[in-house]
Amino acid sequence: MITIAVPREPSPETRVALVPEAVRALVRAGHRVLVEAGAGAAAHHPDAEYAAAGAEVLRGVDLAGVDVLTHVTPLPARVLGALRPGAVTVGLQAPVDDPERLAAANDNRVTVLAFERLPRTARAQAMDVLSSQALAAGYRAVLEAAIRLPRFFPLAMTAAGTVPPAKVVVLGVGVAGLQAIATARRLGAKVAANDIRPDSAEEARSVGATFIDVGVDAAEGAGGYARALGDSATERQRAALAPHIADADVLITTAAVPGRPAPRLATTAMVAAMRPGSVVVDLAAASGGNVEGSRPGEEVRVPSARGGGDVTVFGITSAASDLPADASRLYAKNVQNVIELLVRDGELAVPLDDDIVAGMALTHDGATSAAGAPGALPPAAAPPASPAEAGEPSSYAEGVR
Ligand code: NAD
Repeated sequence: MITIAVPREPSPETRVALVPEAVRALVRAGHRVLVEAGAGAAAHHPDAEYAAAGAEVLRGVDLAGVDVLTHVTPLPARVLGALRPGAVTVGLQAPVDDPERLAAANDNRVTVLAFERLPRTARAQAMDVLSSQALAAGYRAVLEAAIRLPRFFPLAMTAAGTVPPAKVVVLGVGVAGLQAIATARRLGAKVAANDIRPDSAEEARSVGATFIDVGVDAAEGAGGYARALGDSATERQRAALAPHIADADVLITTAAVPGRPAPRLATTAMVAAMRPGSVVVDLAAASGGNVEGSRPGEEVRVPSARGGGDVTVFGITSAASDLPADASRLYAKNVQNVIELLVRDGELAVPLDDDIVAGMALTHDGATSAAGAPGALPPAAAPPASPAEAGEPSSYAEGVR
């Protein structure tokens, strides 16, 4: 039996790391689950649902008694310092190289499992938070665009005349991009897409987009991700994309290269070439932006060079959090599946012989694993069981965040 805790996430996060359904499964498996009061409120799961699922709903959680602390927002250093040595955290960490948090985890011998480090293997798919949240984000990005667009997405043939379907361009055909294409297609838009991975053309076509061939060599790096293009290839890509973007009503950008700033795929001039009223949603705004001038969390207006108004550029950062119920449901299942790897003979374990645990382990037993080197940590002795010696036990109610 292990003790698992679920904190109330700091605002503006609306998701929660475990939903009642996942809690029920963990309690059935014999574990104790402590939920901070109000943890699921923003995801529409009241405390009573957690209690009915078998959780202990508490105003303050004694961190020193927790084996596995689940979370969505990266935990601050003081929370990592308040856990007991040997405790494990499971959640998102970006940025994974925050020195203060790494030092706090290592000083306290806390194991930090980061979803950003999950290996992208078939077996790991059930734990892949990046994918589950990208799915939600791709869907949401299209809805945000549709609401801002002063036109229909679908073709409408009416007695009052014919309305042509909206033209949507999607750049980056990973998990978010594929979902964006599928969602825009379901709304009736004509969709064209581009990516630089070799399989991306086929993947884009399989969900109903035409593929924009930009004439650059396919660029696949490690782990099935893209690798960054050089300057001249990027220039050629932009030149090839420019007429498609100018002709689009909506541009959705999702392109990313792990560990690098987002590739700059559209300049301000390319955006200004769009018709007035057109909409750009940049899902990469928080990591540097695929679109020049996009600002994280903000809407920016770019005057259309054709006159008659602006193009709206929305640097969306909360796309998954804006769907807190289902995004949390998927996230929680991913977390639950990781927790199942951490229990051996009913006790907490950090099995570094498991490629998923070894890959996710950002810190363990006082050491930080090298970036991009899953499994680089040396196998360690069983985690110490003694609670943290120094200081009063912390609780969320005392405002540890
Ligand atoms: P991501 O979020 O890292 O990037 C999004 C997309 O941007 C990727 O498709 C990438 O190729 C693309 N991109 C990068 N630079 C670009 C550029 N200059 N121009 C256009 N597009 C550019 O990627 P992701 O969505 O996490 O998925 C990437 C790949 O990994 C996909 O093939 C996906 O199917 C695969 N994947 C595998 C697993 C698994 O096996 N467990 C899980 C998730 C994703």
